[in-house]
Amino acid sequence: IPTTRIDKLLSSMGYGSRKEIARLAKVGGITLDGADLPDATKRIAVTPDLPARMRIDGEALDPVEGLVLLLNKPLGMTCSHKESGALVYDILPPRWRHRDPAISTIGRLDKQTSGLLLMTDDGGFLHRVISPKSMITKTYRAKLARPLEGGEGALFASGSLLLEGEERPLAPATLEVVTPTEALLHVTEGRYHQVRRMFAAAGNHVEELHRERLGGLSLPDDLCPANGGCSRRKRSRGFS
Ligand code: URA
Repeated sequence: IPTTRIDKLLSSMGYGSRKEIARLAKVGGITLDGADLPDATKRIAVTPDLPARMRIDGEALDPVEGLVLLLNKPLGMTCSHKESGALVYDILPPRWRHRDPAISTIGRLDKQTSGLLLMTDDGGFLHRVISPKSMITKTYRAKLARPLEGGEGALFASGSLLLEGEERPLAPATLEVVTPTEALLHVTEGRYHQVRRMFAAAGNHVEELHRERLGGLSLPDDLCPANGGCSRRKRSRGFS
């Protein structure tokens, strides 16, 4: 079991600078199994049950390294650390911005796409999921501006659809028609604006887009969009 200095651990988790952690420890703000830890330079074992045993200002310690978060991403938030406006990172507790290793989204959803989004601080896991070699199936529900014409399924499944500006055709994808203007699309790649561009290549336009599944993961029915807004019907489908 790895051990680490309390001040180093807590500052890497965004609780403050080492100085601030030292001060907090001195005034009784850090406890383990109910006992004060007044000296933040002490080493502790980073066991899986540490968050349940340690209190910072009376609150349970955040999860330590190796986080994987599953979010129901709301519309209007950007999957970026840098851009202006609402970012998906704003959903997380503010101190989580200062964690090291940093938390990143596993792949991206467009600002105007909702649904299943993973985040992690585990770089190896992130790369395994987004690697083109992983071929993980992602399922999107798309609401379309125009009725489907009938040939889209064959086009997407052909393995020869070339998106504008690209040189390599898309891998075969599967279309499931729900209604004439709503479909599920199962893709194994993650190219830029892929689903919107696929429907555009078929002469249609995606009006609403929601990711329902990623590999074996789906959005739990009761997981509201992560900005809080939630009506029962909209929970996992994104739109109705
Ligand atoms: N395809 C898109 O066009 N947008 C997304 O956000 C995800 C897949």
